[in-house]
Amino acid sequence: MDEVQELREAIRRARGIVVLTGAGVSAESGVPTFRDGDGLWKQRRVEEVATPGAFREDPRMVWEWYDMRRRAILQCAPNPGHHALARLLMAREDVTLVTQNVDGLHDRAVMEAGGTLPHPRLLHLHGTLFVVRCSVCRWEEPNSEPIEDLPRCPRCDALARPGVVWFGEMLPEHALEAAFDAARVADLALVVGTSAVVHPAASIPRVVVESGGQLAEVNLDPTPLTPLARWSLRGASGEILPQVIVE
Ligand code: NAD
Ligand code: ZN
Repeated sequence: MDEVQELREAIRRARGIVVLTGAGVSAESGVPTFRDGDGLWKQRRVEEVATPGAFREDPRMVWEWYDMRRRAILQCAPNPGHHALARLLMAREDVTLVTQNVDGLHDRAVMEAGGTLPHPRLLHLHGTLFVVRCSVCRWEEPNSEPIEDLPRCPRCDALARPGVVWFGEMLPEHALEAAFDAARVADLALVVGTSAVVHPAASIPRVVVESGGQLAEVNLDPTPLTPLARWSLRGASGEILPQVIVE
């Protein structure tokens, strides 16, 4: 059996799967990855924009940058990798999809597959670009509209901000807890398109392995998780995922 067949079988047999995705899963949709070099992330250094300090100092500049990213991503569409994962998530209750991406493409694939949002087992570790929330109180709402003026909270009138996690901020507690809970009982970790250097996200598949599960990786290149992987499929996720997910 080749690796593709083996992984297909492992996915079918598994009781409990945690999928962890990163920017690579969206690369074939035309969303630049973090370290790609060109595109949205490079025109401005992310570290200059995606911080609470930058927002305090110049909220207009920060919103302009996020508005540009939101518009660009709305021109992109989920690719066959997102669609395969959405099918898996919806076909089985023992699957948890944890993403570091903020592009909303997993959500759109779930919706296109007939699901409703928010999906309880689709966890956004770094938030999403398409939620706007208050910078002071707990108000938030889904929003994909162009940002013309600085948005304000309808409850307390403070400035509203993008619903993403910025450098130096805590990850959303619920998503983090749910991801590690799923990892402790999963017997397969499927890690797709992440350089696996950002923690705690990269620790999630390690917990699966430490709890006795197996790890499969789909990536163009090796990563720090590769030595732990029972299966390392080198290639584009949009091509490989539809071959290993047959649900
Ligand atoms: P990363 O850019 O660090 O790594 C991307 C990984 O994907 C690399 O290992 C690369 O080899 C692999 N890859 C690229 N194209 C691929 C393909 N077609 N198929 C399979 N693998 C492919 O991304 P990361 O690990 O997600 O970490 C970056 C951080 O930046 C995260 O915190 C994330 O929140 C953020 N980010 C998000 C997006 C998005 O929402 N799409 C985009 C860029 C960065
Ligand atoms: Zn408020």
